[in-house]
Amino acid sequence: MDRIKAEQRVSELNELLGTYGHAYYVLDNPKVPDAVYDQLLHELIELETLYPDLVFPDSPTQRVGGAPISNFEKVTHDRPMLSLSNVFGEDDLREFDKRVRNGAGEQVEYVCEMKIDGLAVSLIYENGKFVRGATRGDGRVGEDITVNLRTIRSIPLKLKEPVSLEVRGEVFMPKQSFLKLNEQRGDKGEEVFANPRNAAAGSLRQLDPKIAASRNLDVFIYGIGGDAENYGLDNHDGSLTYLNKLGFKTNEERKVCRSVEEVLEYIETWTEQRLKLSYEIDGIVIKVNRFLQQQELGFTAKSPKWATAYKFPAEEVMTNLRDIELSV
Ligand code: NAD
Repeated sequence: MDRIKAEQRVSELNELLGTYGHAYYVLDNPKVPDAVYDQLLHELIELETLYPDLVFPDSPTQRVGGAPISNFEKVTHDRPMLSLSNVFGEDDLREFDKRVRNGAGEQVEYVCEMKIDGLAVSLIYENGKFVRGATRGDGRVGEDITVNLRTIRSIPLKLKEPVSLEVRGEVFMPKQSFLKLNEQRGDKGEEVFANPRNAAAGSLRQLDPKIAASRNLDVFIYGIGGDAENYGLDNHDGSLTYLNKLGFKTNEERKVCRSVEEVLEYIETWTEQRLKLSYEIDGIVIKVNRFLQQQELGFTAKSPKWATAYKFPAEEVMTNLRDIELSV
């Protein structure tokens, strides 16, 4: 594609992705399936790689998530809550593995986890007590939704040890609760939610905590927000075991893999079995296990270089989506 055409397409893509991003992150009402959004984003990344002067500051490739939007108080995260890079197939995954081994040495262990399709939250505990919870927002600034998070029964209000720490996790709505909620909304003539993720996001943004409390939300905690080494930990898998001991709900389907082949096997298993889960996942997250190696690899502006999200193939994702905007 020549530069003039590329410039035109980049501007079109920025516009489209901006509109879809707003509908998804701010209105909790997506206009297109995630797979369509991801494909357009991928096209934009490719054009921006070819023509770096076409990377505009408001490009969706330069942002993490959406803007904090509601009447809740704004909270600046101590450390930014980043996004994850994506891989879309075996070749992409092998490339990721190669980059990791080039940066961190040949001996790398990965932890594979469910990529829960929900909403990222940060939870702060002081001396073992839950004091504040926030959304990711734009990654730097989120919203204080403590009152709503306190209604989620799987979020401990008091830990088993009086430690001070920040944890991060994903709030989600189980599939059954989502179906029931939509049925009730349909009966009342109210608009139904597009998917469990949007239902969870909409529930957490309710100003009345009684509504959030009635929505049957749940959580999986997937990591420590600060320096996990401060708690005597040297790898991610161990940190999840520790969090579980403190009283947090962690996802037990994770697996430590010693090679990219093992990671591929795990992905294959869960591509088939994910429909049996009681919650939705939109991929598999692959993280380097050892913290020392994570530090060696570091971050880009948007995401850690030591982790990535394998996204399930588009056609499968499509089946459980409501509507596809045909004009794309
Ligand atoms: P992302 O959802 O691809 O990945 C990052 C997020 O994964 C984290 O913030 C965290 O919340 C979550 N996560 C779930 N399980 C995790 C685990 N085990 N470990 C670590 N993180 C875990 O990135 P994003 O920046 O949040 O948003 C992009 C997503 O939003 C894409 O899936 C995209 O398709 C979708 N989107 C869709 C539309 C649309 O119109 N349909 C618009 C914008 C964005």
